[in-house]
Amino acid sequence: MILWGSVFFTAGASLPALGAGIVADSTAIMREKGGITLTIGLSEPVAFQVFTLDNPRRLLVDLGETDLAAMPSGMAEDIPEVSDFRYGLFQPGESRIVLDLARPMLLETAQNGRSPEGNPLIRLHLTPATADEFAAKAAPPGRGVWRGGATEAKVEGAAGLPIIALDAGHGGLDQGARQGEAVEKDIVLQMALVLRDTLLEDGRFRVVMTRQEDVFIPLGERVEIARRAGADAFISLHADVVTLGRARGTTVFSLSEASKDQQAVTIATLENRSDLVAGISVVGEGDDLTQILLQMAYRETDAFSSRFGDVLAEALWFQNDSEIKSRRMAAGFRVLRAPDIPSVLVELGFMSDKADLENLLDPEWQQGMSETLLGGLLRWFEVEAEMRGLLRN
Ligand SMILES: [Zn+2]
Repeated sequence: MILWGSVFFTAGASLPALGAGIVADSTAIMREKGGITLTIGLSEPVAFQVFTLDNPRRLLVDLGETDLAAMPSGMAEDIPEVSDFRYGLFQPGESRIVLDLARPMLLETAQNGRSPEGNPLIRLHLTPATADEFAAKAAPPGRGVWRGGATEAKVEGAAGLPIIALDAGHGGLDQGARQGEAVEKDIVLQMALVLRDTLLEDGRFRVVMTRQEDVFIPLGERVEIARRAGADAFISLHADVVTLGRARGTTVFSLSEASKDQQAVTIATLENRSDLVAGISVVGEGDDLTQILLQMAYRETDAFSSRFGDVLAEALWFQNDSEIKSRRMAAGFRVLRAPDIPSVLVELGFMSDKADLENLLDPEWQQGMSETLLGGLLRWFEVEAEMRGLLRN
C-alpha cells in the first residue's frame, strides 16, 4: 500500500504533548523487508506528520514539540539508503527529523506502537520506488511550508534609539557549518548574545534578535522580523567552513546580485541553502511588478548597505592586528534582501582555519569583536548623519 499525501496523527493526541522526549533505546533505523524502517521511541504520545520532498529527496517527520536531545545521532551511518540525517527544533512547538534519501523510497506504512517497555512508538517503513513515483508523491508546494508569524521578537533597549537587528545565522535543524565538535549555529548565537549585551550596555542602540535560542527561522522570516521591528540596520552573523581556497579572518558582505568573486558566490550559495536544509519549500518571490518595485528599493538601499559594509569592514580592519585583514565582498545573499533596511552579513571567521576557530570560541575575542562592531555601527551612524547634512545643504 502506498499512501498519498502521507499525513498521519496519533490517535488521541491531536494536540502536541508537552514535555515529550525521544527514548534512545527504542529509536533506530533498520534495513528490513526490502526497505528501511525508522522507529521513533517517545516518552509520551506526540502528534506527528510525515511527508516526502523532492530535489533533493527527503523524508520529513514533524513532531509536536519534542526533546530530541537523546536521539542516537549516528543511527543512519550504516544505512546506505540514508545519505544524511538531522533533527532539531523547527519552529516553536514543532520538532523535525529529516532523512536525506540516497535513492527514491516511498513511505509504505506509518504506525503507532509500543515498545516492550511500554513507550509509545512511531514506526515508518519505506520501500524502494522509481524516481518518477517518488516525484509524483512528493508533497506538493505548500505542505511543509513554515507557518510564519509564529515568532515574536521583542525590541530591547530605551525607546527612541536606533534599532539594530541581530541575526544569528542558521539554528535548529540547520546546523550551518561544522568543524569537529564546533557547530556554526551555536558559535554565532553565542556571538550574537555577546553583541546584544554590548550594544545594550553601551546604551546608544536598541536591539531586536531574529533568534535567541536554537531554533530554525527561514531566511525570509529573518528579514520580516527586522522589518516588523522597524530596524535601522540588519547584521547577520556567520562563521563558515570554506573548502575552496584558504579563507581566514573576518569578511563583511553586502548584497550584490552579480558577484564576480568566486569565493563570495560559494559562501552565498552555502548560506542560501539554509531553507533547503530545513526542508521548507521556498515559495515564489512575488510577481513581476513586485520584483520591479523591490529592485528599485534594493538599488536605493544598496548604496546604504554598501556604505554600511565599508564602514564595518574598516572598523574590523583596525582591530585585526596580524596579517589577517577584514575584507569586503558583495554577493547574492537571500538574507540581505530587505528592500528598505541597510544589511550586511559578517563572516566572523572561518571554522576551517585553526586560529580563527580558536578565536571564535574565545569569550575574550568575542567581547573584542562585539566592541569593534559597536564602534563600526557608531561610525556608520555618524557617516549617515554627515551624508544627510550634506544633502540638506
Ligand atoms: Zn553560515
